[in-house]
Amino acid sequence: MSELFTVAVIGSGTMGAGIAEVAASNGHQVLLYDIAGDAPARAIEGIRQRLASRVARGKIDAQRSETILACLRPVTELHDLARAGLVIEAASERLEIKTALFKQLAEICPAETLLTSNTSSISITAIAADIPHPERVAGLHFFNPAPVMTLVEVVSGLATSAQVVDTLCAIASRWGKQPVRCQSTPGFIVNRVARPFYAEAWRALEEQIAPAETIDAALRDAGRFPMGPLELTDLIGQDVNFAVTCSVFNAFWQERRFLPSLFQQELVLAGRLGKKSGHGVYRWPGEHQPDWLAEKGTGAQARQVITARDSVTKNPLTELDELLLIETDGETAQSLSARRQRPVVVFDLSEGDTVVLAAAASNQQADTDKAVRYFQQQGKRVLQIADYPGLLVWRTVAMLVNEALDALQKGVASAADIDTAMRLGVNYPRGPLRWGEMLGWQRVLRVLENLQRYYGEERYRPCSLLRQRALTEGCYES
Ligand code: NAD
Repeated sequence: MSELFTVAVIGSGTMGAGIAEVAASNGHQVLLYDIAGDAPARAIEGIRQRLASRVARGKIDAQRSETILACLRPVTELHDLARAGLVIEAASERLEIKTALFKQLAEICPAETLLTSNTSSISITAIAADIPHPERVAGLHFFNPAPVMTLVEVVSGLATSAQVVDTLCAIASRWGKQPVRCQSTPGFIVNRVARPFYAEAWRALEEQIAPAETIDAALRDAGRFPMGPLELTDLIGQDVNFAVTCSVFNAFWQERRFLPSLFQQELVLAGRLGKKSGHGVYRWPGEHQPDWLAEKGTGAQARQVITARDSVTKNPLTELDELLLIETDGETAQSLSARRQRPVVVFDLSEGDTVVLAAAASNQQADTDKAVRYFQQQGKRVLQIADYPGLLVWRTVAMLVNEALDALQKGVASAADIDTAMRLGVNYPRGPLRWGEMLGWQRVLRVLENLQRYYGEERYRPCSLLRQRALTEGCYES
C-alpha cells in the first residue's frame, strides 16, 4: 500500500467530516460519500470554515488550507469508492446500515482494500460476518472532534488479521494520532471503562447525597478530572450519553454494574438534553458554581496543586483530640464511629485543592468543625456531604480501576493501551490501572468490598484480577 493511497469516507456527518479533514491534512485524496446527496458538500464547506478560522488565527497559512481543501472530493455513488486503499465508514449507528454498506463495499473494492468502521458500539465481528475477506475489516474508532482528539481505537473483530491491525496503527500514527489496539467487545475500551464515572454521579444525585454542583466539583477539583461527570453529560448530550450506557448495559446481558440511571432517562424523556437544548442537569448558558459549603481560608495563595503522592491520602487516619479523621475505605462515618465509640469524620481521595468530608450523625458540630479547619489550614477547600460510603471520588476511582482490570483480564486490550485510552480519550488525569497501582490494590479492593456489603449489590463486586493483585501486593487477608 503506497503511503498516499486514496481514503474513502462514508457518511459525511460530524465524524465523517472530521475524519476526512484528518486524512486530507495528511496529504491523502479523500472521497466523501453520503446517502444524503448534499451532505458531502456541506461537510467540505464546514471544513473550509474551520480551516479559514485557523488561517485567521495564524495557525496555518492560506496555502496550506487550499492544499487540504483540494484533497477533498464529494462523490455521489458508492461505486466511485472502488479505487480507495482505505475506506472509513462513519454512517449512522445502525447495524443494518453498516452490514449493507460493507457487503456492497466488499463487491466494489479489491480484496486488499482495508474496510474500517468508526462505529462506537457495533460489533466489528458482526459487520464482517458475511463478507468475503473479513480479515481486512476492522474498527477505526476516532473521538469527537476527530481533528483534535488524538486517540484512535483500532478494533479487531474475530476475523481481523494482525497485519491489518498493524497497518492501521501505522496509518493512525502517521496521521499524528495515538492508536490503541482492542478487541471488539461492547464499548471497546473508553466507552466501557468510563461508565462508572457517570454511573456513580447519577447514583449520588438520585440518593440526594449532594447537589449536582457539589458532585461535579468533587470529581473535578478533588479528583482532578477535567470536568465533573454531570456537566460532562450535559455537554455530550443526555440522549447520546444515555444511549451509550443502555447499549453497553444491554450488550453485557444487563450486567448490573452498567445499569442506566432512571433520573437520566427522565431528563431524556423531558427533552432536557443538556447544552444543545439549553437545559439538562444545568441550564445553559448559565452559571453553575460549585456549592462550597465551607470557603474560609481558601485564598489563592493557600491553594496548591497536590499530586497523589503528596496528598492527604498519606495519612489515612489522624486524631484531632477525640475526633478521628479517617480516609474513607467504603464504610460510613457513622459505622466507624459506632465501632470506635468516638466522633468520626471521613474524607475522600483528594488530589487537587478540594477535599470532600462526611461526618457521623452522632458527632457534635464542634468535632466536625475541627475537621473542616484542619483541611482549610492545609489550603484545601472543603465540601461537606451526607454520610455516604466511599464518598464521591474514592468510589468512582475504585470502580474505574475495577472496570479497567476487568477489561484487562478479559483481553480487551493491554494495560498500557487501556491507560493510554483513558488519558487521551476522556482526558483522565491518570490511566485507571496506574491509579490503582498508586493507591494500592488492597485499598481499592477494601473500598469495593465495603460498598458491596453496604448495598448488597452485584454492582460493586471486585473483579478477580483485583483480588489477585491485592494478594500479590502483600498482606491482604481474605
Ligand atoms: P451523524 O448523524 O452526524 O452522521 C451520519 C451520516 O451518515 C449522515 O450524514 C447520514 O446521512 C449518513 N448515512 C446514513 N446512512 C447512510 C448510508 N447508508 N450510506 C451513507 N451515508 C449514510 O453521525 P456521527 O455522529 O458522525 O456518527 C457516525 C458514526 O461515528 C456512528 O457509527 C457513530 O457511532 C460513530 N461515532 C460518533 C461519535 C460522536 O461523538 N458523534 C464519536 C465516535 C464515533
